[in-house]
Amino acid sequence: MDAFQYKNEKLFAEGVAVEKIAAEVGTPVYIYSKATFLDHLQKIQNAYSELDTTVCYSVKACGNINILKFMAEAGSGFDIVSGGELFRAMQAGADTSKIVYAGTGKTDEEITEALNASIGYFNIESEAELENLIELAKANKKTAKAALRVNPDVDPGTHKHITTGVKETKFGVDIERALKVFDDYGKNGAVELCAIHVHLGSGGKTIDPYCDAIKKILPLIDDLRSRGHAIEMLDIGGGFGADYESRTVPSAADYAKGIVPLLKDMNLKLILEPGKSVCANAGIMVAKTLYTKQGGSKRFIIVDAGMNDLLRPALYDAFHFIWPVSVSKKFVPQQRIKDLYLDGVEVVDVVGPICEGADFFAKDRALPPVKRDDLLAIFTAGAYGYTMSSNYNSRRMLPEILVDGDDYKVIRKRQTYDDLIALEK
Ligand SMILES: *Cc1c(COP(=O)(O)O)cnc(C)c1O
Repeated sequence: MDAFQYKNEKLFAEGVAVEKIAAEVGTPVYIYSKATFLDHLQKIQNAYSELDTTVCYSVKACGNINILKFMAEAGSGFDIVSGGELFRAMQAGADTSKIVYAGTGKTDEEITEALNASIGYFNIESEAELENLIELAKANKKTAKAALRVNPDVDPGTHKHITTGVKETKFGVDIERALKVFDDYGKNGAVELCAIHVHLGSGGKTIDPYCDAIKKILPLIDDLRSRGHAIEMLDIGGGFGADYESRTVPSAADYAKGIVPLLKDMNLKLILEPGKSVCANAGIMVAKTLYTKQGGSKRFIIVDAGMNDLLRPALYDAFHFIWPVSVSKKFVPQQRIKDLYLDGVEVVDVVGPICEGADFFAKDRALPPVKRDDLLAIFTAGAYGYTMSSNYNSRRMLPEILVDGDDYKVIRKRQTYDDLIALEK
């Protein structure tokens, strides 16, 4: 459930008409709903409340510091993957003991910053990284806790670019090698290796891969404990499904129903690292129609947003439901699915202004008739939308708007032309 709904034929973000924001801030623009973020976070927190659980929201999915701030206030920790994300989380007032840090290529500088910040856990992706962390901790007279990222060889059945838990990826160490890593590095005086991390990748649509992975990990934890390694925490990562099409993925409660019973008697703290399941449906991007044209048998709608503003369709062939912000009564959509054929729709491609074939948002999509200046909402754009955007084609990055009830705030301004060249002078 999210707070982007049609009321009287107009799309609203919570209590604010999307048209009003577009008129006042311009387009293209990202619009987020605070209530949706918090609702999704709380549903996950509640679903796992039987266990000692910390939800560490994944900053890379949507990391504006204003968002991180209210998430931290609601009890969220953070999953970070860079020094920049650590900086963001700290600017937002995060409790650093609830930060977990993953990533295959942490630099010495980033590791040192995280040691100084006393983060909760380093999620270790290789023996070489662990050796380096131990060395840096000793040199800086710090101690740290670490989780070994284990590769359970489970395929969540998602796009190849976002599958991270099978053997042929660069992430983590194979489960067979994990015992040896603990035996070799478990007792070093600086880094307490006391947890296991798994992250299967993004976008799986069933709970089975999670249960399969946990069932592979639990015997490893028993083994490790019997060899004298105190394992206190299991981090099951993120990748929980988000509803890009209406009601197609399990809810937080559905996932928990499978996962909690497996962990109940394990005496483990649990960490989850949800990104898109929290924020995907908490954001939309709104673009304005510049032109429509016919190309052969195809009809194109050319909008003022491009692939640099929302890369997922180009990069992952991702589906985003697109619909006009203002519609007649018969076109008010009851669900968000690819083939929403209502009487009178036209089949179109929605494309951007960039000179690349990949610059599209939808192909062969049924939409109500659209004309110049009509606003289109691109739904489920909260995750990996703004955070993956760029200045390609010297296009200015978009403003981010946070709606809270009947009010909205600009939480990031639209870039100016001067911003584009500020670092080049
Ligand atoms: C990207 C990432 C996540 C979040 O993934 P979602 O699919 O957005 O839930 C969690 N943990 C790690 C280690 C990641 O790299």
